[in-house]
Amino acid sequence: MKILVLNCGSSSVKYKLFDMDRDRVLARGMADRIGMPGSVFFHHVPDRGDLSLDIPLPDHYEAVKAIIGALTGGDLAVIAGTGEIQAVGHRVVHGGEYFQSPVAVDGGVLEILKECGKLAPLHNPPNIMGIRVCQKLIFHALQVAVFDTAFHQTMPDHAYMYAIPYEYYEKYRVRKYGFHGTSHKYVASRAAELLGRRIEDLKMITCHLGNGSSLCAVDGGKSKDTTMGLTPLAGLMMGTRCGDIDPAIVGFLAEKEGSGPGRVLEVLNKKSGALGISGISSDFRDLEEAALKGHARANLAIEMFSYRAAMGICSLVPALGGLDAIVFTAGIGENSPGVRSRICSYLACMGVFLDGEKNAAKGVEADVSAPGSPVRALVIPTDEEKMIARETKTIAEKVPRVY
Ligand code: ADP
Repeated sequence: MKILVLNCGSSSVKYKLFDMDRDRVLARGMADRIGMPGSVFFHHVPDRGDLSLDIPLPDHYEAVKAIIGALTGGDLAVIAGTGEIQAVGHRVVHGGEYFQSPVAVDGGVLEILKECGKLAPLHNPPNIMGIRVCQKLIFHALQVAVFDTAFHQTMPDHAYMYAIPYEYYEKYRVRKYGFHGTSHKYVASRAAELLGRRIEDLKMITCHLGNGSSLCAVDGGKSKDTTMGLTPLAGLMMGTRCGDIDPAIVGFLAEKEGSGPGRVLEVLNKKSGALGISGISSDFRDLEEAALKGHARANLAIEMFSYRAAMGICSLVPALGGLDAIVFTAGIGENSPGVRSRICSYLACMGVFLDGEKNAAKGVEADVSAPGSPVRALVIPTDEEKMIARETKTIAEKVPRVY
């Protein structure tokens, strides 16, 4: 079975085509700067080569057409026609309280996705657009929506409710939803395989540390709590996002700066976090380099990030009632031994001990804990597309083919 996975953002479409029977990626790539001057298209076929094109991509329709063109024609074609694609798995950021698991898309589902878009106005509309385009261009294939929020729908109410008047939950569904669910689910299941244990028996905290960062308490393979909230602004300090702060700061700054709350929220989303503290970059590679050269605020940003991540890990232990392993993933979690080491330096009291040499691992699966560490520490590169492909396959096997 061949499955195309699409991740449609407002100005980009990333894709991977999987051959599920052989567990292989046939091709991957990205259409970028859609609707802007200087659009680019990149297509990569493992062991065969790359294609890079500067072509106009005025909208998502043209972007998906370019993807189909590269997959089916030219020197780097990998399939004879779209008829070989049995299903398309779409990353959809927000499924609200409606979806606990992936779903085959029909007209009713699209209406609900639009409704969920009120909670993710930047993300859901391009996700929906991608589905609509594929319904036209790859019309025979089953379209499946896989949600970032779905994995966290197993949180109990005492974890997802905010301590504000209950009527806001009833009227507007204001509650914690959590994000990065596909990544947390993937690394949790991979961690169980690496540890050689049944996931049902494991209590883990998965740490997705990238530009956006979140933690998840995974008990027996199910999310029990997570650090992001109604929106992805909550929880950990991030590249440009503030994470948890005193909510009164919003009103205070709006008054002091003479701006509305919207402007303050923009600063909290785009100019805060590691960028706001360091004043130089949101990228941890830049920060680590600057810190080594003695840049005090770069060092402060890394230390704050690490301390807050450690605090977040500790705050999730009550959700689990114990802890077998912590799992590091995403850009920083996979590639920064320094940040992992700083985080774990705060966690010795919890029984987390790293092995200095093993912790040098970058971008590969590794058990980086010291021998005898009561809590194992693992590094597992995330693969959200693979997880989306797997989930899509499960749905496709249940739904009869439509042609
Ligand atoms: P997202 O998918 O949320 O955009 P990623 O998971 O790709 O983010 O993470 C991107 C971040 O990972 C970069 O901004 C950078 O801070 C960090 N990163 C990537 N490689 C390294 C590295 N070798 N050392 C430290 N940080 C790294």
